[in-house]
Amino acid sequence: MVSLSLCLPSSIYLQAKDLKFESVRKAISRLDLTTTSPLIKSSLLLKACIRSGNLELGKLLHHKLIDSGLPLDSVLLNSLQLHSCVIRSRLASDVFVGCTLVDMYAKSAAVENSRKIFNTMLRHNVMSWTALISGYVQSRQEQEAIKLFCNMLHGHVAPNSFTFSSVLKACASLPDFGIGKQLHGQTIKLGLSTINCVGNSLINMYARSGTMECARKAFNILFEKNLISYNTAVDANAKALDSDESFNHEVEHTGVGASSYTYACLLSGAACIGTIVKGEQIHALIVKSGFGTNLCINNALISMYSKCGNKEAALQVFNDMGYRNVITWTSIISGFAKHGFATKALELFYEMLEIGVKPNEVTYIAVLSACSHVGLIDEAWKHFNSMHYNHSISPRMEHYACMVDLLGRSGLLLEAIEFINSMPFDADALVWRTFLGSCRVHRNTKLGEHAAKKILEREPHDPATYILLSNLYASEGRWDDVAALRKSMKQKKLIKETGYSWIEVDNQVHKFHVGDTSHPQARKIYDELDELALKIKNLGYIPNTDFVLHDVEDEQKEQYLFQHSEKIAVAYALISTPKPKPIRVFKNLRVCGDCHTAIKYISIVTGREIVVRDANRFHHIKDGKCSCNDYW
Ligand SMILES: [Zn+2]
Ligand SMILES: [Zn+2]
Repeated sequence: MVSLSLCLPSSIYLQAKDLKFESVRKAISRLDLTTTSPLIKSSLLLKACIRSGNLELGKLLHHKLIDSGLPLDSVLLNSLQLHSCVIRSRLASDVFVGCTLVDMYAKSAAVENSRKIFNTMLRHNVMSWTALISGYVQSRQEQEAIKLFCNMLHGHVAPNSFTFSSVLKACASLPDFGIGKQLHGQTIKLGLSTINCVGNSLINMYARSGTMECARKAFNILFEKNLISYNTAVDANAKALDSDESFNHEVEHTGVGASSYTYACLLSGAACIGTIVKGEQIHALIVKSGFGTNLCINNALISMYSKCGNKEAALQVFNDMGYRNVITWTSIISGFAKHGFATKALELFYEMLEIGVKPNEVTYIAVLSACSHVGLIDEAWKHFNSMHYNHSISPRMEHYACMVDLLGRSGLLLEAIEFINSMPFDADALVWRTFLGSCRVHRNTKLGEHAAKKILEREPHDPATYILLSNLYASEGRWDDVAALRKSMKQKKLIKETGYSWIEVDNQVHKFHVGDTSHPQARKIYDELDELALKIKNLGYIPNTDFVLHDVEDEQKEQYLFQHSEKIAVAYALISTPKPKPIRVFKNLRVCGDCHTAIKYISIVTGREIVVRDANRFHHIKDGKCSCNDYW
């Protein structure tokens, strides 16, 4: 007799003689996977499904397991059990059963198993195709998903809205949006573009390609907008530099209602662009709509304030929270670490350990990077070793990168490379890029070249590294090598992302490119720049034209040195904001060496605090000093 008392409240004991469809279904819906031993309970229930011959219910249980957030290998175990039951019941050749299995493995992150079953099926329908395609999308094998979709088009089964929704998700991850656009055309022809799931994928795809106008159009034509479409559009809109303010108001006034996820999207958008005023407005809205004590939202607030450069406000939110989880602690620690305030970050970490919150992998990344920012070698080794011994967390690539950063920053380049070679797995581009940063600071071109080559072996399509390597060769007069690199870049159609900086003044974002003259106040900005140049030269600033080991393109070099986007942004902030206020500049790429030096001088002559957030970290520049200690 199978007793299911383990998984159920005593009132609904389920016994072998009572394995009716309805009782098993009820037991599944009441199954609480958040308590102890969820797997024993679910496998008992699975046995019940099998005994009652109900594959449908097995699938229902499987979905519940996926949604529960349990580790995927446990979910996979459940799939295997169900699969073996199917084989025993000789149902394997049935199309519907086949689909179910393809879908189940795909959702358990075992797409190879899905493929095997798919290949053994005699007939395919739209369900089996779609399940496998979305399995590939979920396992980040986008090319494979698109290939499969093309195969599908050559057969006799027509794709439906779910198929398009999946394959459009794959297109969103490709660097070239051509295929996505073609598919959009097809969905219009088939009348599918107004359907929710297709529309949501379209919005997401266009938003990721930066074409907000198309995203907005896709949103507008949706037949019926649900919370997911609003959230997708809000998320996309919030992260765009030229975001549409009126749109957010529109969302606030729809009957759909904002969820905590909507606010989390809005906050991550504000954090992404660094618009602190917008972030504050959202904060006020959150309090007004009663989400003020929501744990996830408060965690998002800490991260938003940190990323916008206001660590005091982040700490305020942290201090006001009644309940904090490991994400809360990690957010605040990593906030301080990124700003270069290592002592405070470590203080918070020890406080966290003391009250018994167990750190996770991400917490250790924050702790190690805090140590690295101030060169605490012994302290970092202590944490690096303790994460495994005391908390059973195996160091990941990011942890190794932190240690490489620390050794490299301290000038121990040979030790760093030895450490890389002793890693238990092959170092990835991130580790080598970190090492390259150290070579840049310590001006070691030989090791820098070695690192750049290692990066290109791993990421042959990274234009920044090509440019850097070509600058390196140029500095040594190796013109044949320069020409070969440039040719290979052209062949691969690699174009480096253009650099730009932006600041927020009066709730409006102002964006500048190198040599930008398009701003209405351009004349005033350049006058200010000329004046600044004179003043800081008097203080001892010497333009830095040494771009070896920097990924700066030729035209951005010497002649434009004083027209770099970050300098223009600082100049505009100086003429448009009052004095005691700190200036917050954001840049999409890493801040260049000359701008870093110039801004330090500018902070002296103007008496202003200037915070620069670049692609890597924060620079708090005050009285001629930067919180990064000139290392980034
Ligand atoms: Zn610059
Ligand atoms: Zn700095």
